[in-house]
Amino acid sequence: MIILVINCGSSSIKYQLFDMKNDNEYNVLAKGILEKIGLPDTKLKHNPTGKEGFSRVSPIADHKLGMQVVMEALIDPVYGVLKSFNDIQAVGHRIVQGADFFDKSVLVDDDVLEKIGICCDFAPLHNPAHLLGIAAVKEVLPDVPQIVTFDTAFHQTMEPKAYMYALPYEYYEKYHVRRYGAHGTSHLFVSHKGAEFAGLDINNSRIITCHIGNGSSVTAVKNGKCVDTSMGFTPLEGMIMGTRCGNIDASILPYLMKKENMTPDEATAMMNKKSGFIGLSGLSSDCRDLCGFREQGNERAKLTLDKLVLDITKLIGGYIAEMNGVDLICFTAGIAENNAWLRRDVMANFAYMGIKIDNEVNDATRGIDRIISTPDSSVKVALIPTDEELVIARDTKHIAESL
Ligand code: ADP
Repeated sequence: MIILVINCGSSSIKYQLFDMKNDNEYNVLAKGILEKIGLPDTKLKHNPTGKEGFSRVSPIADHKLGMQVVMEALIDPVYGVLKSFNDIQAVGHRIVQGADFFDKSVLVDDDVLEKIGICCDFAPLHNPAHLLGIAAVKEVLPDVPQIVTFDTAFHQTMEPKAYMYALPYEYYEKYHVRRYGAHGTSHLFVSHKGAEFAGLDINNSRIITCHIGNGSSVTAVKNGKCVDTSMGFTPLEGMIMGTRCGNIDASILPYLMKKENMTPDEATAMMNKKSGFIGLSGLSSDCRDLCGFREQGNERAKLTLDKLVLDITKLIGGYIAEMNGVDLICFTAGIAENNAWLRRDVMANFAYMGIKIDNEVNDATRGIDRIISTPDSSVKVALIPTDEELVIARDTKHIAESL
């Protein structure tokens, strides 16, 4: 089944075209990204598998036109991989926020669209863009089923004690203020793949997954189900990230808003865009840059990276206790996949309980599934590159086939 997986951001469309035979047998036919939609220098990067790709800059005003450009790239006589649009049998979309409406992927219908719309309140940058993407696909492929996969769905198994804030209960009832988590598709993929790779029965396992990228979250997965996760009402909660502050004392907010005369929107932007690595270091939001500055002896870069290690350590430690033990710890996403020092330093904080990293294997590993702990380590530690698009393609296939 030919499946197009779409991830629409506010000014971008990322896509991957799959030829899915079954859950584990598939080919990626092409992938690409259209960036800066709405600006004069909209850029399309299209990479067909097995042949040369192309990149082109020309203004594209909106998502509808953007989707047409993506489709045209897919059927282009030189760079394309399909004969016609009609070869696409289903489309799967990544949706950032499904709140407590959705605990699994579903077929798009009017009710689903309405609920994704209600969730715009909790994800104002993402959900409106997803709706634009779904509408744009409907224009180009009116008869093709569209399926939506939610980044929050995997976390819906959390118990109230994990998802409730100790705020007046009426705000939960009136405004749905609770913890929803994020990166769920990645935590689902990595925990299941990690269990398989480490020879564990997912239904009888305690796994901690660390998705450490530009956005970062850590999740506790017991018997295949999420029991706790570090992101909350929005992806701002939890650990230090590229531009997000993670957990802070909430009283800082009214204090700074008064001192700096900030509006709520300005305060939100400060915490989401000007904090984290960039805020604390004053240097960069990119981990590679910070590692370079630290090597040159920069103290603020060192402080920032030390805090990164500490935040991950505290989350892992808490989740080990919450699950009364752990069988496997998995690292994934841009920072964790590419920085052996980070995996080594975090895991060194668990030497007390007998976790041991094989430094030679760890140092040599990036971007592939690999156990990085020693055979006599008390707990297995693995690097498992994430593949959220594959999860979306699998769910899309299952739902489209059942129609
Ligand atoms: P996103 O949340 O945007 O998907 P990623 O998972 O791609 O983010 O992670 C981006 C982060 O990964 C950046 O901080 C970047 O510095 C880091 N990163 C990516 N590749 C490397 C690399 N080769 N070496 C070190 N760090 C890397």
